[in-house]
Amino acid sequence: MSDPRPHLKDLPVAALRERFAAAGIAPWRAEQVASWLYARGVEDPAAWTDLPQDLRARLADEWQLRALAWDDLARSADGTVKARLRAADGALVESVLIPEEERTTLCVSTQVGCPLACSFCATGALGFTRNLSVAEIVDQVCRMREALAPGQRLTNVVFMGMGEPLLNLPRVIDAVRLLLHPKAFALAPRRVTVSTAGVVPRLRALVEAVPVNLAVSLHAAHDAKRDVLVPINRRFPLDVLLAELRALPGLGPRRPVFFEWTLIEGVNDGRDDARELVRRIQGVPAKVNLIPMNAHADSPHRPPPAEVCSRFAGELARRGVMVTLRRPRGADIDAACGQLAARGAA
Ligand code: SAH
Repeated sequence: MSDPRPHLKDLPVAALRERFAAAGIAPWRAEQVASWLYARGVEDPAAWTDLPQDLRARLADEWQLRALAWDDLARSADGTVKARLRAADGALVESVLIPEEERTTLCVSTQVGCPLACSFCATGALGFTRNLSVAEIVDQVCRMREALAPGQRLTNVVFMGMGEPLLNLPRVIDAVRLLLHPKAFALAPRRVTVSTAGVVPRLRALVEAVPVNLAVSLHAAHDAKRDVLVPINRRFPLDVLLAELRALPGLGPRRPVFFEWTLIEGVNDGRDDARELVRRIQGVPAKVNLIPMNAHADSPHRPPPAEVCSRFAGELARRGVMVTLRRPRGADIDAACGQLAARGAA
């Protein structure tokens, strides 16, 4: 039987204040709770010493506090950590922690599986099971902090795990609110990135609600190619997507769109692809992140040789596009982009 009690982590601080007020609890207790749960990471109300005893007992009694439990953890030779976490209904959720010199990034999932079926993505091959709740998104941060090395601090969160964030938008927005709230995780807005395959009608609602970075998985600059790689392109083709990006408020050189481009051998790694990309994104404040395809069993695609990747990056840079060529991380434990495919929901 599923636990019918509400979940404390489902509510951003403002909503928790309202819920408390309605229940006869002083609204400002919401900030205290957030500070224990998220800033300090203490999940047992008995230890919330600046709350009165009876309130602590009531919170422990009437609310759920943990949405995800540890199921499995793998550490890559390069320091990347992939966790498989288990929800109350048995659904499995994957998160990846990526330590770099200057920052430590957590990649969170927003759905169990994904309905978008991008041809090169392992998650897409799983199909779609369900949306994650706010608590299940936020609890990935709570659990993964437990996997940090001593002295290591989580600095960035990217919504680039399993699922399409914009198809679970209200919950993603509430989770972002908790990431940014000064009494909760207190991350700076530019340290949070939400990535989408291009659910055009929901882009504006996202950027208007929260001031985070927007990443768009482009992968092709010709509709015929993108229709195959990222099938949602058939509903929202490139001209519609790019026109909306040009029209979105708040984007500019200091808040560019991050275009993701997974380099796939013989598919989107040619000179013509680079030129068309440059041409199509004219007028969009943009940075391009190139990621060599991570191979996996569900796709016949392969990454291009390193020199092809560098040449592609060079083609963009020469034409004045800001571009980064990313090293794959965590591929030895299937933790790299597009390899998340936890199977075996109960
Ligand atoms: N659905 C959202 C969030 C997932 S982000 C989106 O599409 O943006 C995960 C990123 O990894 C996306 O850019 C996705 O296209 C990319 N990706 C998927 N499979 C990959 C693979 N096998 N190798 C490299 N990148 C991949």
